[in-house]
Amino acid sequence: MDSLTQIQSPHLTVRVPAKINLQLSVGPAAANGYHELATLFQAISLYDEITVSKVKSGGESLSISGENFKSIPTNHENLANKAVKEIAKYVEQPISARIHIAKSIPVAGGMAGGSADAAAVLVAINQLWELNLDIAQLTNLASNIGSDVAFLLHGTTQLGLGRGEQLTPVLTRDNLNWVVATNKSGLSTADVYKTFDEMHTESQTPTPTANKDLMQALAAGDLNKVAANLSNDLQPAALKLKPELKQLLNAGEELGAIAAMVSGSGPTCIFLTTNENSAQNLAVDLSGSGLCKNVFVTHGPVAGAKVVSN
Ligand code: C5P
Repeated sequence: MDSLTQIQSPHLTVRVPAKINLQLSVGPAAANGYHELATLFQAISLYDEITVSKVKSGGESLSISGENFKSIPTNHENLANKAVKEIAKYVEQPISARIHIAKSIPVAGGMAGGSADAAAVLVAINQLWELNLDIAQLTNLASNIGSDVAFLLHGTTQLGLGRGEQLTPVLTRDNLNWVVATNKSGLSTADVYKTFDEMHTESQTPTPTANKDLMQALAAGDLNKVAANLSNDLQPAALKLKPELKQLLNAGEELGAIAAMVSGSGPTCIFLTTNENSAQNLAVDLSGSGLCKNVFVTHGPVAGAKVVSN
């Protein structure tokens, strides 16, 4: 397609956040290979922007720009393409879409960047093709695409059970100020879960449950109690695969973070700070430490995938 046709095609842009896990409790692997989770997701203000154009034919095509974009597949493996196929199957009509992803969410970083893009594609196609699917229908479709896609449709702070796709909103009184530090190379989520399995016997992984103290602390706005209750069962596995992350976590704590942990399956690390000013200061210090690639000052919770322009 030439650029003139592209400009004339109906299109719209959706902004979608990254996720972090304030609790990530991992249970045994089910028969389908997925682990049962009890997780507390939070959407934070670090966004990808996805522009979807409605074209006459050709199925879906994908282009990507931004940090590390060359390492991302643009074929059927990309969850954005999978989202087009799933929604087309559901509404039983062919959908030809040209998708451009402007990436800011770290690639293979444990922040659900691929799932976020898929959630954005669902929202964009629903509006652009005037399908009028409701949020429950989109959420059902999302769970066929990937474990975190449903959460990125909703955003905010939510308890996720099952594979993380069974969601319940969680009340949070205050905004949390997070510093996000990325790494030069990513980690494969599947590899981190595999390492987790190697480090645990079946009896060491009971069915996980939500941390009630963490939920109470979030509802009460008790920052120190939130910090004390953050947890990530995948962190030891991520540290085994990338031992150098320990230095980054220690540095963050020494430089003033009230808590430091690996985000999801890593290797991105997140640091909780007392306010926006301390987050800015910590970001400057971590940037100069030589221990990470990029540093972002963010806050959460924020809303899920939203149309920003058309
Ligand atoms: O669903 P998603 O694409 O995020 O999962 C990537 C991989 O991570 C899966 O193929 C699986 O190996 C592992 N995984 C898991 N249990 C989960 C979520 C992901 O074992 N609950």
